[in-house]
Amino acid sequence: MTRLTGATGRFAAHLTIFATALAFAGCARCEYVSSSEGDWDTQRADMVRVLRDRYGMTDERVLEAMATVRRHVYIPGDFLGVVPPYGDHPCPIGYSQTISQPFIVAYMTSRMDIRPGEKVLEIGTGSGYQAAILAELDADVYTIEIIPELAEHARGVLESEGYDSVHVLAGDGYLGWPEHAPFDAIIVTCAPEEVPEALVSQLADNGRMILPVGEDPYSQSLVVCRIVDGVLTVEQDIPVMFVPMVHGESSP
Ligand code: SAH
Repeated sequence: MTRLTGATGRFAAHLTIFATALAFAGCARCEYVSSSEGDWDTQRADMVRVLRDRYGMTDERVLEAMATVRRHVYIPGDFLGVVPPYGDHPCPIGYSQTISQPFIVAYMTSRMDIRPGEKVLEIGTGSGYQAAILAELDADVYTIEIIPELAEHARGVLESEGYDSVHVLAGDGYLGWPEHAPFDAIIVTCAPEEVPEALVSQLADNGRMILPVGEDPYSQSLVVCRIVDGVLTVEQDIPVMFVPMVHGESSP
């Protein structure tokens, strides 16, 4: 618990640094683009070292997935040079959206304890990076993105990185994906004002869901929902800052 509190404090500090970096990026875009795949490999290994040493992460399966997925290729070309893709902060991907900070991706994934063959739904595909991490854990991945251009981008990158079995839907995550329910786990990477009932109803028995909840980005928390023997438990987790989960035309 002490470790989490420390990690949370540092997370907040790093968000501030990221905000500053973005402010600078607006006037003078830095180039962080590596010339070789070897440079990216080194940066990715450094990112995993930060997850271990700064955040105390020990989930080896998740760390291995983080060490394998090429985060930089998920960032659309125009945004690749804005901030270092493997840095300890979120990365912009266009349309005012971001890929979460590596720690948050690893933490949310680890909290869901994904087992091979489990059916996992992600809401908020964004770049496709989180979906790739889930695919690395041998999950059967379904992911929904409300911005069609991002869904298209993610579908293309996931396919070219060899994750052919990830199912990407351009649509409204508030509805979930009833045709493929129930899901063993649901990871939501945008923040609704409250836990969406449709998503809870699409959880399998022993299913779990992690999501940021809160209208105000400065007072959101992760929430973990679990269904055990038909009974739902809801547990508040660490404070976070996510983009809002927007309502589509058919949202409840
Ligand atoms: N998981 C992503 C990052 C998510 S950013 C990654 O790994 O890159 C949050 C994403 O949620 C954005 O792309 C945003 O467009 C999407 N989003 C917001 N509201 C949504 C909704 N109602 N349904 C589906 N996606 C939504």
